[in-house]
Amino acid sequence: MNAAPADQLRLLDLAALDTRRTQADAARRNPPQAARVQELVALRQSLSHELSNRRGAVDDLQAELRRIEADVAVVTARRARDDELLRTTTSAKDAVGIEHELASLRRRQNELEDAQLVLMEDLEAAELAVAEQEALIATTNEEGAQLSGAAKLHVAEASALHDQLTRDRAAVAAGVPGPLLALYEKLSERSAGAALVQGRTCLGCHMMLSGTDLNRLRQAEDDAVVTCPECGCILVRTSESGL
Ligand SMILES: [Zn+2]
Repeated sequence: MNAAPADQLRLLDLAALDTRRTQADAARRNPPQAARVQELVALRQSLSHELSNRRGAVDDLQAELRRIEADVAVVTARRARDDELLRTTTSAKDAVGIEHELASLRRRQNELEDAQLVLMEDLEAAELAVAEQEALIATTNEEGAQLSGAAKLHVAEASALHDQLTRDRAAVAAGVPGPLLALYEKLSERSAGAALVQGRTCLGCHMMLSGTDLNRLRQAEDDAVVTCPECGCILVRTSESGL
């Protein structure tokens, strides 16, 4: 294929725009915050799981405490009834029996109140553990919200850049003859598409060209379209090529 050197030179602009466009596309698809955001989503899930365990422990302790309080109420009522019976009984034998029951009720009440104190301490610790977990989740949410905001901004900027580069590319591509553009696009699927030869090196693959290949380049007409034997991209020759 033949193409005017000026048209071949346009391919370098096109290749540069395509490289930047590919980078902008990658940046908008995968913002740098994405990995940490994913981590935080997983972290929040396990933190929330632990939070519901801790809330469950609080619920259990509260239920246990209510049971003990109900038991204390039963014992208290029973003691009041026995006190009343003791005041009104005229039977010495009954009085002994009531005293006996009152003593055992007092022991029972002491046991219940001891258990109540232990449970109240446990409940306090369990509620503190819930509060700590909630604070941890709040911190995680805050970091997640900040990173998500930053990621959205990053994606918006990369998208805007990508759109701009797409417009720039269309403008440059419009100036390249159809067959040359088609060849470039086909080659750019597997290489830089087009690259400058500089210091006897293809800047598409950074391989030094062999003597034979250099001779072939030197002998080629200015408007001949030559490709790199290493990477297959179109080799664009200029006065800087050092041929
Ligand atoms: Zn090459």
